[in-house]
Amino acid sequence: MVSQSTGGSAQSPRVRALPNLPKATLVERTDITEDLFVIKLEPEQGPLKFKAGQYCTLGLEGIERAYSIVSAPHEPLLEIFVEVVPEGELTPRMHRMKIGDQMSVRPRAKGLFIMDPNVHHHFMVSTVTGVAPSIGMIRSYVNEGIRDHKFYVLMGASYQDEFVYDKELAEFAAKYPDHIQFVPTVSRPNEDRNDGWDGAKGRVNAIAEDVLERLNLPQDDTMLYACGHPGMISDVKDKVVPKGWMFKEERFWKE
Ligand SMILES: Cc1cc2nc3c(=O)[nH]c(=O)nc-3n(C[C@H](O)[C@H](O)[C@H](O)COP(=O)(O)OP(=O)(O)OC[C@H]3O[C@@H](n4cnc5c(N)ncnc54)[C@H](O)[C@@H]3O)c2cc1C
Repeated sequence: MVSQSTGGSAQSPRVRALPNLPKATLVERTDITEDLFVIKLEPEQGPLKFKAGQYCTLGLEGIERAYSIVSAPHEPLLEIFVEVVPEGELTPRMHRMKIGDQMSVRPRAKGLFIMDPNVHHHFMVSTVTGVAPSIGMIRSYVNEGIRDHKFYVLMGASYQDEFVYDKELAEFAAKYPDHIQFVPTVSRPNEDRNDGWDGAKGRVNAIAEDVLERLNLPQDDTMLYACGHPGMISDVKDKVVPKGWMFKEERFWKE
């Protein structure tokens, strides 16, 4: 299902990084599905400084876009989980990149979608690539040493092969059962591509409130995070904010 590849076809034109900005070289690429891939970039000027959960700005040929960082600050390579928007400007070009190609990377990472250290419970809801900041926050937390925080990660996708980080989360959950739980849910359980799926079913926004209620978390010691599809975020926000839950969001595009 997951294949390592050098990316692009022999006929594809090479893509070029934006001039006059720091560059990062593509050193690893994993194709997940036809429209999902994970890249690892090595910044020329050394590892990018950022807080887990923040986003960076990547560019090719003068086109720049924001990408949440999957990797944690202690990791030397910048890991990014990308969905190709077929009619988009940048992602089809990124999809043609081969090992050794370069992208521009703005030197400053940005964003407030970071772990709130003042609460102990972190309830994270995401769609597909929107899991990126949660992975960064959890990797960073584990690297710094498990303390008294708990993470509950709900990840939604149409198909089971789109989760990508479910195995990593399962390993964390097995190793730190008192600190990390996760629920992957597929929204199209009856399609062939989901044959054999025995996990949760339904859109992540539809199950989020139920899962939250079942966990019985203390409202004044819990932060909710929603990242990815703007429709999912609006739906979850409309359900939880009026009930008094603290809420952070990162919308990947506007509806
Ligand atoms: C803070 C932040 C973090 C982000 N992190 C990620 C990330 O980790 N991974 C990632 O793949 N993208 C991420 N995005 C989205 C990314 O910035 C681009 O918008 C996206 O990759 C499409 O770029 P494009 O140039 O190919 O398409 P564009 O030419 O910019 O867009 C074409 C159209 O598609 C819409 N669109 C953009 N993304 C999607 C999508 N995924 N599905 C459907 N429609 C879309 C746009 O709103 C626009 O209408 C993030 C966006 C923000 C604001």
